[in-house]
Order: sequence, then structure tokens, then C-alpha cells
Amino acid sequence: MTTGEQRGLVLVAEDERPIADLLGLYLRREGYGVEVAGTGPDALAAVRRLQPVAVVLDVGLPGMDGTEVCRTLRAEGSTVPILFCTARDDEVDRVLGLELGADDYITKPFSPREVVARVKAVLRRIDGTLAAADQPLVLGEVELSRERRRVTVAGAPVELTATEFDLLAYLMARPGRVVTRDQLLSGVWGYAAAGGTRTVDVHVAQVRAKLGEASPIRTVRGVGYSAEAG
Ligand code: CA
Repeated sequence: MTTGEQRGLVLVAEDERPIADLLGLYLRREGYGVEVAGTGPDALAAVRRLQPVAVVLDVGLPGMDGTEVCRTLRAEGSTVPILFCTARDDEVDRVLGLELGADDYITKPFSPREVVARVKAVLRRIDGTLAAADQPLVLGEVELSRERRRVTVAGAPVELTATEFDLLAYLMARPGRVVTRDQLLSGVWGYAAAGGTRTVDVHVAQVRAKLGEASPIRTVRGVGYSAEAG
């Protein structure tokens, strides 16, 4: 989990357990962390809590169907990439017709390999968009370039490990926003581990030690961290 090869957490919203398990197996094999939600409301809650890098969203979910989950997320301003899984042609029509902001869809029966390929494709498209617009992130004296994976304090380079870099980049990309330890775990390490939050604190301390007084990371008591200038 510390190789720097983590690709982030993917939420699999699927009520058919064998399918969810199989998708989880393939996604983990590709280096993604995986959480499974079996109902629409659970999927919605999981996206809000864990901020996954992508969602594989079954249309036919109990409680609240996939299109409704997507609509709700988009209405809240979430831009998480969504790959819809549909079982029938009429579901395809609904996904396409409602202009829900789905990033792609795939029709059952599908092979897990194909789903993984589609998830990767969706993420590549989004990474491509980010990279094209790669602006260094600047907070006070700290400047971070995601493209060059380089951090400077007042122009002087600072050596960070891959995980420390990813952690700082995650926070600096959301300036002023409070990020919980669970969100950092899923966003940086790619998994949601109960009790794993101590790892977050240790890495935050290391980043702070390296950046010194210029560190933009603030502790938000009882909640998590945020990155702010000055
Ligand atoms: Ca289903």
C-alpha cells in the first residue's frame, strides 16, 4: 500500500454480490482500492464520505436507482467520474436520455476486464484534462507542480516521498476545504481502513517537518486537515 502506485478508491455500487465481488477482484488487481455499496442510498453516502476517484454504478439498485444517485450527486456539484452498468436497453435509453453526466456506460453481461478497461479510460480522460491545465498549486511560499511532481518553498526544492507528495497535492488542490482523515485515506492511499487514520497523521507530520513554517497544512480539531495560505 505504500508503493506510490495506488490509483485511488473506486466505489462499486452493485446489489448483485457475485458481480460486485468479481469487479472488486479485478479492480484491486489493477491497484485500485475498492468499496462496495449494495443500495442507492448507501452508494450516495459512500461517495459523500469517501470521495472515490470513480464510481461503477448499477442502474438497477434497490432503494434509489442509479440514475437518481447520479442526478443527486451532480446536483450537489460532484464531478466524480461515473461508469453506468445497465442490464437492459431501456436502461441505456434512460441513462443517455436524461443527460445525467455519466462518463460512460456498459451493458450487462459484461466482462470484469472490460469494466476495468472502461474505468481506466474514464480516469485517463480526466487526468488528461487536468494535465493539460496543469497549473502549479500555490499556497503562500509553497508551490507544487503535479506535472513535474516537484515542490518548492520560496523557490527552494523540497524532497518529499511519493506518498507525502500525493498527500500535499490532495490538500492543496482543495484549498481552504476541510478534508477528513477517511477522505485522505481513500484519496491518497486508495483504501478506506478503519483505524488506518494514524497513517495519515504520521505522514502529515512528516510533510510539515519538511516544509517547516511554510507548511500550509492546518489541523481541524476532531475532523481532519485543510490547506490554507498563511
Ligand atoms: Ca442490480
